[in-house]
Amino acid sequence: MLLSIDDLSSYYGQIQALKGISLAVEQGEIVALVGANGAGKTTLLNSISGLMQPREGCITFDGHDITHKSPVDVVKLGISHVPEHRQLFGTMTVQDNLLLGAYHRRRQASRKQLEDDIAAICAIFPILAERKNQLAGTLSGGEQQMLAIGRGMMAKPRLMLLDEPSLGLAPLIVKSLFEVIATLREDGTTIVLVEQNARAALRLADRAYVLETGKVVLEGAADDLLQDERVQATYLGGH
Ligand code: ATP
Repeated sequence: MLLSIDDLSSYYGQIQALKGISLAVEQGEIVALVGANGAGKTTLLNSISGLMQPREGCITFDGHDITHKSPVDVVKLGISHVPEHRQLFGTMTVQDNLLLGAYHRRRQASRKQLEDDIAAICAIFPILAERKNQLAGTLSGGEQQMLAIGRGMMAKPRLMLLDEPSLGLAPLIVKSLFEVIATLREDGTTIVLVEQNARAALRLADRAYVLETGKVVLEGAADDLLQDERVQATYLGGH
């Protein structure tokens, strides 16, 4: 297992947002986290990436206990978190935002390497090449999402945590974004995907976990969950 989470609980003050979550992600899979608003999906990603300190339980990544590691150390171990709402540096250019994604590699990576990495990302998202010198804050929503993912890729992660990448995007853009996510998997990146759009997420993912009020209530192969009556009734609009 690349990522194992065992009986994890996280709190906001007295409020328990995660209530003993256990899950596992294998190298090379896309695992979707599905659930209603407030189920705890974002809290779970924040707990993995070190933005939140869990109170109980354990998170293991590639044999390392990362339960209480800082976000910087988690990135260094190979986990890249693309947060909900993107959190780009709006007054910096597209190029500089991409370079910041490689911040922790700045000592090891040569200028040439970083340029090659940016070129590879621009090959996936050609619009970023066109907008290289534009300020990130002036990009459209879809372009900003691509930049956020591109910035995450600049960290050369083994595991990417994607929080609601389709939020606010037009269906066609979502389709191409999901194709990119599938390409990342083909290139060997493991992905944990949080999505409101459960149908699209389950079509893309290998496996999925359904969260309700801080607990895992269902888990399985994404294809099986797509056929599951409870999942259909609650998350797929009954179709
Ligand atoms: P959404 O799809 O709406 O983003 P989610 O599944 O990602 O939902 P979380 O954002 O993880 O859910 O929230 C889980 C629970 O924790 C919710 O009950 C929420 O109200 C609570 N919560 C989240 N952030 C905070 C906070 N900063 N302070 C207090 N409670 C919070």
